[in-house]
Amino acid sequence: MAKATSSVREALVQTAPSGRPASRSTSSAYPARRRAFCPLCGQQTDKLANEVATPDAALCAGRCAVAWRALTALRLCESASEEVAARRRSEWDARQPHASTLSELMLMRWRGGDWTVTPEDVLGQL
Ligand SMILES: [Zn+2]
Repeated sequence: MAKATSSVREALVQTAPSGRPASRSTSSAYPARRRAFCPLCGQQTDKLANEVATPDAALCAGRCAVAWRALTALRLCESASEEVAARRRSEWDARQPHASTLSELMLMRWRGGDWTVTPEDVLGQL
């Protein structure tokens, strides 16, 4: 009267693909087994490029994902900031190269492996 466990069948049911990218912008041949790169650290991930619909879908789990959230929040602040806009205008008028914004600096640091300022710190100050 022993019944086989149904866990295997349940596991199989759960692997159905849930969604695919709606548009295929590039028709040129993409190697099907190409691995995606994490947009934050630039490391190759174990995710397949054709299964990654958005850049943030290729993020490494953990630190890179938190860092990406912090950068997104920073950029949002910067795009709404009068100070950043004014600085851009004066740089433009003086024909100076534009100075890096905080989000650019943090991306460079984190990508370079410098985590002395953590994404959690940045998020906590926004
Ligand atoms: Zn990463």
